[in-house]
Amino acid sequence: MAGSRKPRRPRAPRRPRIPPTGVLDWTYGHWGGVDRNCRYCGRLTPLQDTDGRPAHKVCAELAIAQQAEEYAEAWENERLRKQ
Ligand SMILES: [Zn+2]
Repeated sequence: MAGSRKPRRPRAPRRPRIPPTGVLDWTYGHWGGVDRNCRYCGRLTPLQDTDGRPAHKVCAELAIAQQAEEYAEAWENERLRKQ
């Protein structure tokens, strides 16, 4: 009988799966040639970020994730403040 089906419950949003190689593609242009201290963790790395500052790829990805989380939290706080 048409129209007698229960309405579908909306699915909870799913986060996209992060590829095993991480979210940044540092295949080219991220080798500094010499070991320098990572700007995030302080350990030595030959890698550098897009601005040429020494950074591990995983440290840069973690920093981006933390920054996105802080932006989302600030946005949510601002949204709640306006209500
Ligand atoms: Zn690091």
